[in-house]
Amino acid sequence: MPMPPTPLFTAEQIRRRVEELAAALDQRFDDGVTPHLIGVLKGGFVFLADLMRAMSRPATVDFVRVASYGSGTMSSGTPRLLDAPSVSLRGRDVVVVEDIVDTGLTLQAVRQSLLAQQPRSLSTVALLAKPARRQVDVPVELVGFSLGDEFVVGYGLDVDEMHRALPYLAVVTP
Ligand code: 5GP
Repeated sequence: MPMPPTPLFTAEQIRRRVEELAAALDQRFDDGVTPHLIGVLKGGFVFLADLMRAMSRPATVDFVRVASYGSGTMSSGTPRLLDAPSVSLRGRDVVVVEDIVDTGLTLQAVRQSLLAQQPRSLSTVALLAKPARRQVDVPVELVGFSLGDEFVVGYGLDVDEMHRALPYLAVVTP
């Protein structure tokens, strides 16, 4: 049985940062606004669940799936949206909830597709970002932790579907 990877960010560090992100998200909107959170599956589901419960204001939720990576840790090219949001976004304050923004290509594809539905506002909160690896200029309003070019797993993120259930974030070597 292989040993679990060593933590990069512990469960406690993540919990504290998620609380800060939730508070910052709460403050972005006027009183009475119910933001619509759109989680990017699969990697973002743990983060979204914790973020939503740490927020003080009510929010609605939906998910989109994007095919961006094949197996392993290498990009398989242009991201493709596999499904669309299930309710109209017209006039809504939409928040994309991403696990990690790496090249930015996935987020760019998600944003373009959501913007076509004319939300009132569209912003992004990402648990993780790798600024040095960005290939496209795409706005990310809130970021939990910035990384170099390490490949991380845990807290919803996988490598070949492994390690999603780790309560912390860890680096794996491809
Ligand atoms: P991008 O399109 O920005 O290059 O990639 C975004 C997607 O790539 C993320 O949503 C995630 O699924 C995957 N990804 C990028 N870096 C990592 C990483 O370090 N670990 C894991 N598990 N997935 C990553």
